[in-house]
Amino acid sequence: MDSAVDRYTGQIVDGEQLWYIDPVDKEGYICRGCGVMVNPVSFEAHHKVRPHFKELPSKPHESWCDVEGEEKLVAKARKERVTTQVGFPGSFPSKLQLVDEREKVAIPGAPIGGKGASSGGSSSGTATGKTHTQWTAHTIRPICRTYINFPKDRDLPLSVPGADGNNYDEVIRKLVSQDIVVYPKQHIFVAPLSWSKPKDIPGKIIVELSYGFWANKKLLSPYRLVIDSSSWSAAKKNYVLTELEVSRKEAKERADAGKKSEKSWVFFVGQQESTNPSDFVVSDHRLICCLTGELGNG
Ligand SMILES: [Zn+2]
Repeated sequence: MDSAVDRYTGQIVDGEQLWYIDPVDKEGYICRGCGVMVNPVSFEAHHKVRPHFKELPSKPHESWCDVEGEEKLVAKARKERVTTQVGFPGSFPSKLQLVDEREKVAIPGAPIGGKGASSGGSSSGTATGKTHTQWTAHTIRPICRTYINFPKDRDLPLSVPGADGNNYDEVIRKLVSQDIVVYPKQHIFVAPLSWSKPKDIPGKIIVELSYGFWANKKLLSPYRLVIDSSSWSAAKKNYVLTELEVSRKEAKERADAGKKSEKSWVFFVGQQESTNPSDFVVSDHRLICCLTGELGNG
């Protein structure tokens, strides 16, 4: 499972966030679908795969848990639209809300788990009785994952404060691949990560993307993310650098395996520099994430 629920805060935690949590509480996470305890794995530095959550043999998912069904749904959704007249058959984040990290969103000790109860946000029933849950994300990552996993369903509603658009297709915008363009409106932007190593300099991380201004088949001026890490702890900076490095390696592995359409995609909300429009300044680590795979189109 890519994500689970923090049993103390009630918040959905992406596997990648385990890179930043120290120490990881092995008993601190429960299934998003049914609330059983799940095991956080692969979060130590030596692991090659991204951190994720695994079912404990002693604590199987409840029979009605839809988390495993979700994986089957994603496999289907990569190829075809899964929204029907009845609606979207799974749950998805429809809103981004950045919450103060120290703030607890649930009362400790309050009952947690149970169908839908752990996913937070609102849920709505339909005439068929099947629950379609829309929930609130606290980083852009689950939103970006939904975008990649459901390429034919990008008309799902999405609201991101400050960003233009009301659905996935409108809010998330791929940068122009061959030119530097000024974007008048804010979006979650996406472009492939370049293969050159991000520059880690005091107070900043500079990340080159592989889109930008090209001439004579050369990328003369790439789009860049200028991540302002001046107020970050070393752990937070390390977390972002780890994700960038893991993603860069994943992209190379896919290319070596001949999977040309699979890249590492950097999603971000950033302020485009007016004097230097190739640069986007990002200062909140929750507004940047990298995912590897096919971006697909709707
Ligand atoms: Zn479950």
